[in-house]
Amino acid sequence: MTPPPDAKQTPLFKQYWEIKRQYPDVILMFRLGDFYEMFGQDAEAAAGVLEITLTSRDYFGGERIPMCGIPHHALDRYLARLIAAGHRVALCEQIEDPRYAKGIVKRKVTRVVTPGTVLDDAMLEAKSNNFLVALSASTVDRSCAVFGIALCDVSTGEFAVTQIAGPDAPQKLLEELERLGPRELLLPPDLQDAWQDWVVDGRPWILSPVPMERQARKTARQALLEHFGVASLRGFGCEELEQAQEAARSVLAYLSHRHIEAARHLRSLTTYSTDQFMGLDPTARRNLELTQAMWDGGRGRTLLAILDGTGTSMGGRMLRRWLEQPLLDPVRINERLDAVEELAESALLRGDISEMLRQISDLERLAGRCATGVAGPRDLGALRTSLRKLPQLQGLVAPCRALYLTELAERLRSIPELDELATHLEAGLMDDLPATARDGGIIRDGYDVRLDELRTASSEGKDWIATLESTERERTGIKSLKVGYNSVFGYYIEVTKPNVHLAPADYHRKQTTTNAERYITPELKEKEALILGAEEKIVELEQRLFAELRDRVGREASALLQVAAAVAEVDVLAAFAERSVRYDYRRPEVLAHGPIEIRNGRHPVVERLSPEPFIPNDTLLDDGDQRQLIITGPNMAGKSTFLRQVALITLMAQAGCFVPADSARIGVVDRIFTRVGAHDDLASGQSTFMVEMNETANILNNVTERSLVILDEIGRGTSTFDGLSIAWAVAEYLQQVGAKTLFATHYHHLNDLAERLPGVKNYRAAVKEDGHHIVWLRKIVPGGTDKSYGIQVARLAGLPDAVISRAREVLADLERGSGSVDGGLPAPGTQISAQRQKVQLNLFEVEENPVVEELRRLDLTTMTPLEALTLLYQLQKRVG
Ligand code: ATP
Repeated sequence: MTPPPDAKQTPLFKQYWEIKRQYPDVILMFRLGDFYEMFGQDAEAAAGVLEITLTSRDYFGGERIPMCGIPHHALDRYLARLIAAGHRVALCEQIEDPRYAKGIVKRKVTRVVTPGTVLDDAMLEAKSNNFLVALSASTVDRSCAVFGIALCDVSTGEFAVTQIAGPDAPQKLLEELERLGPRELLLPPDLQDAWQDWVVDGRPWILSPVPMERQARKTARQALLEHFGVASLRGFGCEELEQAQEAARSVLAYLSHRHIEAARHLRSLTTYSTDQFMGLDPTARRNLELTQAMWDGGRGRTLLAILDGTGTSMGGRMLRRWLEQPLLDPVRINERLDAVEELAESALLRGDISEMLRQISDLERLAGRCATGVAGPRDLGALRTSLRKLPQLQGLVAPCRALYLTELAERLRSIPELDELATHLEAGLMDDLPATARDGGIIRDGYDVRLDELRTASSEGKDWIATLESTERERTGIKSLKVGYNSVFGYYIEVTKPNVHLAPADYHRKQTTTNAERYITPELKEKEALILGAEEKIVELEQRLFAELRDRVGREASALLQVAAAVAEVDVLAAFAERSVRYDYRRPEVLAHGPIEIRNGRHPVVERLSPEPFIPNDTLLDDGDQRQLIITGPNMAGKSTFLRQVALITLMAQAGCFVPADSARIGVVDRIFTRVGAHDDLASGQSTFMVEMNETANILNNVTERSLVILDEIGRGTSTFDGLSIAWAVAEYLQQVGAKTLFATHYHHLNDLAERLPGVKNYRAAVKEDGHHIVWLRKIVPGGTDKSYGIQVARLAGLPDAVISRAREVLADLERGSGSVDGGLPAPGTQISAQRQKVQLNLFEVEENPVVEELRRLDLTTMTPLEALTLLYQLQKRVG
C-alpha cells in the first residue's frame, strides 16, 4: 500500500510513513499506547502468521487501511512466531512520555529483529548456533569466482571469515553454507540475481539484501579497520583476503543498518580455512545422519544425539561443530584423543567436571545479551555463579597430563578482568533476582551510598507510618482508627462514621466511604512524599546501576568468549570420554596415511537403537590390493549399515572421539562422499535418477585418492542395463583414482570387476538358507554372490502368496535365460532379444546356456545324420 500525499495524511500516518519508508522490507510494529499496530501489507502478512484478526482503519479519501495489533506485554511470544516464519520485524517505540508530549508522540525504531540476529533465548536453540552469513564473490561467474564467507552468531559474539578459491570453489562454497545452515544469508545485489542459478535445489535459507549505500563510501578493509580500531587486519589473519573482508563488512553494515547496537560486541574476527577440515558435502552430511535424521529430519537417530553428553549449551554447539568438521591433521586429532583417553581413565574426574559444567551457564549468549543491552537481572546472576565456577573447573583440569588439557587449563586460568567482574557482580547483585529490572530489587545494600540513603529514608518513612496507627489511636481515643493506602489518594487515616466527631482539627477529609471517612494530615503527606519519592528514585537508580553492571559485562565480552570456548572444549572432550566408556568405544590409531582397518566395528547409532543385538564386522580398505570392496548380498542383510558404519567410525576418529570397534587404524581421509539410497527431490523438480546422477557426478568430479567413498546402489533408478553399465563404469573410474571405496550393489555382475581390476575385492553380506526361508547373519564376509533372495524378502514383507509364487515362476523362467531381464512380467517362453543378449555378453560375459557348451563339444564327424537330428530335437526342447 503506497502512502497518500502528505497533505491528506493525519499527523499519525505521516509519522508512520516517514518511518516505514526507512524499513520497506520488514514488518513495522508501531507502538500505539498499549498495542503494537501493523498496517497495510505488514498487517496482512502478520495476521496470517499470528492468527489474529485483520481489521481496518480509516485512512484517507474514504479508504481504509488493513490493520492488526498485539498487546505490548505479549510482544515476545508474537515476535518469536514472526521470526520463526522467516519475517524481519522492526519495533517502533514511543520515545517520550505521552503525558508530556506536545502534539504527536515521538517514535523511533529501537530494534530490528531478523532471523539471523535474534538474541532472545526463547527464539534460539540452546545447542545450535544461529548464524547470519554474508557472501561475496569476485564475479558473478561462479566458475572463476573467488568467494568470501563471513559468519556471525550475534547471540554468542562469534565472528569469522573464510575465503574459497580454485576450480572446486563453488562446490566447497555450497558445502560450507550447508554446514553453517545460515538462518539468514546476506547477498549483495549482483549476487542476488545470480543466486537462483547457482543453487540447483533451493535451500531454505532466508535471503536478505546487503545495504549497499553504506558500503560504497569506504573499502571493506577501511570499514573493518575502523570497526575494530586496528591498524591492520594481519592480527585477524585476513589482511590479504579481499573477498573475506568484503563479506565481513556486509555483516557489519547489515547489523548497524538493521540491528542498531548488535555490531558493538563483535570485537574480534577469526579467519579459518575450509582446508583444515575433512570435506563433507551436503549429501554426505545428510546420508550419514550426523545431526539430522534422513526420514523425519529429527535429532533422535543421529550421531549427534548418541554422542551428546555435553553439560553446557556451549559444549553442545561445539560438539556439533566438531562432528561437522572432522580434522585432517593427525597431530591435532591425536591431541584430542590423548585428552579423551585421560578423561576416560578417571570416572571420578569426569564426574567432578560434569558436576561443575552443570553449574556453568551459556557464557557466550550471556555475554552477547549483555553487550547488546538485552540481558535481565537473572542473566547477570547466572553469569556471577558461572564465573565463580571457572577457577574450580580450571583446578580440575590443571593436573591432567594430556597436552590439550593442560592448554585448556591455561586458557581457563583466572583472567584478572573476569575475576574483577565476578567480584563486582557479587558485590552489586542481590542473591535472589527478579526477572526484569522494571521494579528494582536488584542491587545489594552497601554497593552504592546514594541508594543506601534512599533506602534508609524510605524505610524510616515506612516505619513512621507503621507506628502511626497506634499513636493516632492513643491521641484520638478512637480504637477502630486505621491507617491504609490506595493508589489514588496515597496513605490515609480511616475513622468509622460513629467516631467522626472525635477526629482532631488537623485531620483533612479526603474521601467518604459508606461506613467511614478518610483523612490525611500534613505530616502524613510529607512522609508519603518522602517514601514515594524515595521509591521512585530507588527504582530509577537501581535500573541505572544495573545497566552499568550490564555494560561492564558487555565490555568484557571478548574475555568471556575466550573462556567460554575453553569451557566448551573441556565439555566436548569429557562427553567423548563419557560416551566412550559407557558404550565401550576404543581409541583409534590415527595416521597421516595408510589403510582403514577396523576390527569388530559397529554402527554407533544402530547398535544403540536397534532391538536386535548388533553383529560387529571387520573392514580393511588399504592403498594396495584392497582399495575397493564390491559388497553384494540380499536386501536387509546389513549392507547399508556396514557402509555407513565404516564412514562414521572414520569420521568419529578424525573428530577426536573413540570409536565403536575393538580396534581401528585410520589413515586420515580428506573427504567422505556418499551416495546412498534413492529419493526424489520433488521440490526442485528432479527425479530419483537425476538426483542419483547429480550426486554421483559430484563424487566423480571431486574425489581424490585420499577420499573415502560410500556407494549404496548406483543406477537403480533406470533400466537394468543402463544402470548396470553406469555402476560398472563408476566403479572402474574410482578404482583408477584409487579412492577407498565401499560399493554395495544388487548387480552381481560387478563381482567380475575383482578379477579384472587390481585393488577390487568382493565381499558379501552372508545369509543362511533354509528352504524358502533365509536368515540374515549380518556378517560381511569375503567372496561374491549370485543370488538375490529378493523374493524371500518380499515374502517376509507380506506380499500375497499368489504374487510370491508367480514371482518364483517368472524368476525360474528368467534364470533359464528365456525371459526378458529388463523387468516386467513376461509370459513364460518370451525370447530374450538377440541384441540384448549381445550387449549382455559383451559387457559382462554372463554364463552361457549349457546347451551352447554342449553344442561346442559335439564331434560331428563321429555322428550319423539320425543321431544328429535326434540330438538337435532334444536340445531344441531344452531351450524351450
Ligand atoms: P537393502 O539392500 O534392502 O538396502 P541392506 O542390506 O542395505 O538392505 P540394511 O538396511 O543395512 O540392509 O540393514 C537392514 C536392517 O538390519 C537394519 O535396519 C538394521 O537394524 C539391521 N542390521 C544391519 N546390520 C546389522 C548388524 N551388523 N547387526 C544387527 N543388525 C543389523
